[in-house]
Amino acid sequence: MEATHLLDLGGLQGLIDALTARGYRVIGPTVRDGTIVLAPVTTVDDLPRGWGDEQDAAHYRLRRRDDEALFGFAAPPQAVKQVLFPAEELIWRGRRTGTDFAVDERGVAESDNQPYAFLGARSCDLRAMAIHDTVLLGRQYVDVRYGARREGAFVVAVTCSDPAGTCFCVSTGGGPRPDAGYDLALAELLDGGDHRFVVTVGTDRGAQVLAEVPSRPVTIDEIVAADEVAVRAAGRMGRTLDTDGIKEVLYAAAESPRWDDVASRCLACTNCTMVCPTCFCTSVEDVADLTGDVAERHRVWDSCFSEDFSYIHGGSIRPEIRSRYRQWLTHKLASWIDQFGMSGCVGCGRCITWCPAAIDITAEAAALRWVAQPALAPASGAPPAPGPVRTTGGA
Ligand code: SF4
Ligand code: SF4
Repeated sequence: MEATHLLDLGGLQGLIDALTARGYRVIGPTVRDGTIVLAPVTTVDDLPRGWGDEQDAAHYRLRRRDDEALFGFAAPPQAVKQVLFPAEELIWRGRRTGTDFAVDERGVAESDNQPYAFLGARSCDLRAMAIHDTVLLGRQYVDVRYGARREGAFVVAVTCSDPAGTCFCVSTGGGPRPDAGYDLALAELLDGGDHRFVVTVGTDRGAQVLAEVPSRPVTIDEIVAADEVAVRAAGRMGRTLDTDGIKEVLYAAAESPRWDDVASRCLACTNCTMVCPTCFCTSVEDVADLTGDVAERHRVWDSCFSEDFSYIHGGSIRPEIRSRYRQWLTHKLASWIDQFGMSGCVGCGRCITWCPAAIDITAEAAALRWVAQPALAPASGAPPAPGPVRTTGGA
């Protein structure tokens, strides 16, 4: 789709106001506790103006940029998943009255009434949402709570201008420019001290909202400048992942000694799965109040890195970290393709940044490929070189 409009900062505020007036809860990036989190946004001043970040394996720092960019940072720890598929959710609440027991339906739908508008979603977010749509809505049993939130959600995407040292979305066929799944897409321009946003309309709904916002037609020069933002960012990915034949490589590596190597470093802390925007495994927890009259069932995120996750009568199927890491990586990059027709990895790099042991999915996949295809290994036999610590903000 072609960019058609241009917003200045007042226009961006107008967009937030128009979405709010239409009843959306506008959720966008904000700075909190030394990081960037998704939270309600009512003004452009809530956005991370002038903040960039620095990411590498087991490394995350916010840093001041040398400009006033509002979206000049890479993937923050939280993805949109946090909102659409929350870490904990009430499934039902039951009440006992005498010898009767009734399910309280209000407890089921209480959070799904007001639609969300996501401001600043990245290409990797959109692709992860598309994966969740397939997994949670496209199979026999539909996740009605996810579906309710997803159906009403309005998406304002943004082109990434400063990928992190852990980003590799381009290797997985996406980013840094959003290409589908948005209502409106922005590209932030700061050249010449003129702060503005080139807007591409993705849906009729997006066009209707944009019509309520002060804007002007975009010029050819501004379209070219927006293209250059995306091209520059694509050339600055911190890491790469060779996806050629990756499914076959991983299936062939089922008994690779590399799994023992990674298991000697992995803490089975589950961080990688908690930050991953495509992981969707959950468990249920039942709780009752002290009177025993009210019982609740909650769905909570779970992780294939936990020993209990594969527990069945008689024990855990994957008692060793070796088998749990193998399960995770093989599912993400190989069996996910057989299961859902797509990779389970969008290259956001979060699992690299937030792994306390600095385990890097791109390095592990490369090492497994070398075991399967020794001719591809570097002569030194050294592990793959990590990407640089990528500092955003005019670098
Ligand atoms: S790979 Fe890293 S983040 Fe994932 S469970 Fe192991 S130590 Fe934790
Ligand atoms: S596996 Fe890692 S890089 Fe891939 S989508 Fe999940 S968190 Fe992002």
